[in-house]
Order: sequence, then structure tokens, then C-alpha cells
Amino acid sequence: MTSEEFRKQAHSFVDWMANYLESVEDFPVKSPVIPGKIFQSIPDHAPNDGEAMDKIFQDFQTKILPGITHWQSPNFFAYFPANSSYPSILAEMLTATLGTQGMIWETSPAAAELEEKVMNWLLELMSFPDNFEGVIQDTASTASLAALLTAREKITKYRINETGFNGHEDFRVYCSTETHSSIEKDVKIAGLGRKSLIKIPVDDQFRMRTDLLEEAIQNDLKEGYRPLCIIATLGTTSTTSIDPLPEISAISKQYKLWLHVDAAFAGSALILPEFQWMIKGIENIDSFVFNPHKWLFTNFDCSVYFVKDAKALIHTFEILPEYLKTQTRGQVNDYRDWGVPLGRRFRALKLWFVIRSYGISGLQAKIRYHLKLAQNLIQNIEKNPDFEILAPVPLNTICFRFHPHNVKNTEKLDELNQTLLEKINNSGKAYFTHTRLNNKYTIRFMIGQTYTTEKHVENAWKLIMKTAEKL
Ligand SMILES: *Cc1c(COP(=O)(O)O)cnc(C)c1O
Repeated sequence: MTSEEFRKQAHSFVDWMANYLESVEDFPVKSPVIPGKIFQSIPDHAPNDGEAMDKIFQDFQTKILPGITHWQSPNFFAYFPANSSYPSILAEMLTATLGTQGMIWETSPAAAELEEKVMNWLLELMSFPDNFEGVIQDTASTASLAALLTAREKITKYRINETGFNGHEDFRVYCSTETHSSIEKDVKIAGLGRKSLIKIPVDDQFRMRTDLLEEAIQNDLKEGYRPLCIIATLGTTSTTSIDPLPEISAISKQYKLWLHVDAAFAGSALILPEFQWMIKGIENIDSFVFNPHKWLFTNFDCSVYFVKDAKALIHTFEILPEYLKTQTRGQVNDYRDWGVPLGRRFRALKLWFVIRSYGISGLQAKIRYHLKLAQNLIQNIEKNPDFEILAPVPLNTICFRFHPHNVKNTEKLDELNQTLLEKINNSGKAYFTHTRLNNKYTIRFMIGQTYTTEKHVENAWKLIMKTAEKL
């Protein structure tokens, strides 16, 4: 491809991109394809000779697009969002063009220094004390792995990095039964063993029971285990419950445990002064992760990891082969030492574009708007006696189910709601996912997509009521 051809194609792609985003709500939100359909539509062998971009792009439209679930649709109410926004996409175009690999400062000083500055902006925006430092990771899963590994190394004076586990180390990690599955995965990868993860029961609002946390730690100490780390969640995956950080924080201090906070989704709300209560107890936090790629309108992937002891993080991950030695080492941040991968995309750029383009007030307004839409929806659900809300709504995810008064049987209710969800998702008009709360099949209505407005939420709620009526 020539530069001239690239220019022509790129212009027409941008037109396609703008058109797509303008009309994204007309696509079926959840891709309706059956398994194997896309795979079969792609030739089994790579082409020997280069093909024209027009032809490749045509296949993108006819073969790939039908198999896309439209995460940028304002009718996307499933999981948590993976939001993008116009400024973020523009930055991604530049990032792709530069093709920067920012493993160390020298491989692109701007990538390293912008990352450091944008992390400082976010620390200030979220009112973190200035003894924290930040680094961008690909995902919350990886950031939490970094937390566990750093905790493991710090407590053993970096011994396991040197000698391996050498048999038994009876560490214990504590989280709640509502904690995200990535923590269990991370515990396995960190060599701690799944059995070392103790899942503390939750209260009636799905928050970690801190009395049981303390009991578990004391029992483990008595039995000769080595308590290592507590994972507190702000915004659990099922209901966005907020673990009681002040109490957890005090326990972590008393027993000298690493305290990691997983705020992958809810962390974005910390840019609102009225949500600072979530982070009370921050003085004992060792590490914290949140995902701008969820609710801060920055393209996947972009996960922000704050640590109090950056030296411990670096000490855990650093390796220094001859070919990576530089004159500037020690004066600058070489982010390859701040996490698992060596190579690093220039992710700070899109975050910088987003924060500057929206401004603090713009970001706050957007998040407040989603929160308000959720509050309005609660009122509508409460007005309908055939529906019930199954969990408190501290943020913008509403857990509810269809419960007509003539149906009492639990299994029948589960079935009804599962059918309701399938019918709505198959309609293509909106996309919801489910969870199970107190053994009840529960539909989640998550309101946080970049382009969602009052109209989309109202239409989706009407669709739910209409579909339910016909069951
Ligand atoms: C989404 C989420 C994760 C996983 O995030 P990734 O960035 O995809 O790894 C972890 N914890 C919580 C609470 C989440 O909401």
C-alpha cells in the first residue's frame, strides 16, 4: 500500500467511523450469529498475493460486523461498559500511527513522562494522598496480579523471586465471596494456590463481613498460616456493592497485611467529591486499581494502578539484561519494571486526550448523569408491582427481577427471568446480562455507556415491561 492510498482509505475509514457511531444504536446490540458462522466465512488459507484494501474492507463490513457485539451502543446495559469516546479514538489513531513501544524511557521519553504526569493528574482528581504513584497496566487482572506478587515479595524480603516457593508457604489472601474472579486467577498465577484464597461471606448488602474477616485472620494465625493480603472491592461485579474500607483498612493495619483495592469499575466515581466516602481508610491502602477503559470513556485497554511503595513494585519486577541498560536509569521511570509485560503500548495518550477534551467538569457531569439515570430508573421499577429490586444501588447498576405476584415458585421465577433476558437480548434492541443473588436469577441493568441518554433507558425499561407482560 502506498502513502497516497493510505491517505485515501484513512479518510474514508474516518467517515465510516463517524457514521457507525452515529447509527450504532440501530445495530442489534448483542451479535445474533450462531457459533462457527464467522469462522466458516473466512478462507482456510491466507492469500498468497496481496489483496486490495477495498475488498478487505468490504469483508470487514459483510463478514465481521455481523459478529460484533456493539459495546458502543447506547442500548448496551450488560456487564460493565468498555467505553470509548471521540477524543479517545482520535488518540488511538495517533498511537497506532506512531507505533511506539514504550518499554523504557529511552524508547519514547514522551510516553514515559506523559504517563507519569497523567497518573499525577488522576491521583489529584481522585484526592489520593501524594505518597502514591501510578502506572498504566493493560487490565485490572494484571494490576491485581502485580499487587499480589509485590505483597508476596515484600513480606519474604524478595526471597521467592530468588528461590521459588521451595515447597510450602502457607500464605493466606482474603477477599469476599463477591470478589471478581480475576483475583482467584491471580492467586493461582502468583503460586499462592487457590486454597490460600479465603472468601469471606458478605452482609445483606453484599459487602464483606469484617467481623468474619478478623475471625478468619485470627484463626489462620492460630493454625500457623501466614496472612498476606486483603483484597477489598469498591463496586463488586454483581451488584457494585462497596466493601467497608474503613474497617478493612484498620484490620490490615492491625495485622500488618497488604491492602489491595479493586475498584475496576467504580473507581471512576472517585472523581466526584460526593463519592469520596468509598475510599475512607485510604491511609492503609498499599495498592489500588481502576479501569478508565470501563467508565472513564477511554478505549480498552487502559487500567490504572496506584501504589504507595513503587520501589517494592519495581524491586519485584525488575530485570536488567545488558541490552536494556541505559545511561538514564534511575533518573526516569522505566515502566517495564512496573508490571508483567516488557513491551508497552502508549496508553497515556488516549487518557490525556480524554481528560483534556472532557475536562474534569465534563467527566464529572457524565458520571453524575449516569448515576441520575439509574436513580430515575429505580423509581420506575418501584412503581411496577410485578418487578422487584434485589440489591441496594450505590452506583448505576440495578439488580432486579420480574416477579408477578401469582408466581411463588423459585425455579419458575428463575425460568421466567431467564426467558425474559433471552427474549430481550435476541430482539437486538438492548443487551443485559444476569447474575445470581441469594440464589435468585437476577437481571443487571447497568447504565454507564458513553452515549446512553434518558431516552435509551426509558425505551429499554418499556421493552422489559412489554416483553414480561407477554410471558
Ligand atoms: C471488570 C473487573 C475486573 C476485571 O477487569 P479486567 O481489566 O478485564 O481485568 C476486576 N475486578 C472488578 C471489580 C471488575 O469490575
